[in-house]
Amino acid sequence: MELKQKAAHISETLEDLLGVPTRDGAGDVLECLILTILSQNTTDVNRDKGYVKLVEKFPTWEDVCEADVKAIAAAIRVAGLGNQKSETIKNFLTWLKDEHGALSLEFVHDMETEAALELLCQHKGIGIKTASVTLSFACGREVFPVDTHILRISKRLGLIPSNCSAEKAHQALPPIIPPGKAYPFHMNLIYFGRRICDARKPLCERCPLTEHCLYFRDNLQA
Ligand code: SF4
Repeated sequence: MELKQKAAHISETLEDLLGVPTRDGAGDVLECLILTILSQNTTDVNRDKGYVKLVEKFPTWEDVCEADVKAIAAAIRVAGLGNQKSETIKNFLTWLKDEHGALSLEFVHDMETEAALELLCQHKGIGIKTASVTLSFACGREVFPVDTHILRISKRLGLIPSNCSAEKAHQALPPIIPPGKAYPFHMNLIYFGRRICDARKPLCERCPLTEHCLYFRDNLQA
């Protein structure tokens, strides 16, 4: 089966199993970007705790921008990688204010998706996943962020080669995602990865995707 067909079948099967997730609606783009930076290498719970601490300590983006990077790191410590993330946030806000005159990213709504991705990715600490999450969640763009679950499952299902990096997966997967399905497919794969296709102990006996799965074929098929 060719890859596009396979991806479409997997997407449909997951929708039958899990439903069709819809976005809550566009949010503030800068807030989404900061939340996504905070979410790097941590859980959603600790990301949210870090964000709450940040806005408690610094109620406006102006306050964050003016703050000492060490004070930002202390505020967001619960989200992990405090030094790295605080530098990314401070540097980005400083650039935004200097280049665009205001601490707002709403102008991204008027940009082409590729140009917006490029703009965000030129900043240290903001990679293609962070930029894609921001454009998908806050701007409703048809982009496909690849997290650790999606990378693992895509390899197991043979959608990408087993040695494919996350960076390369961001190039390889979008062309085979069914049109209009980037968001629901992304959300369903993450849920599927958390609940069924676990990294260490996948529940293959409950999986409706065994026919596509290389992991299943190589490890479990009789
Ligand atoms: S068969 Fe197992 S390894 Fe393959 S996708 Fe399903 S749960 Fe994951």
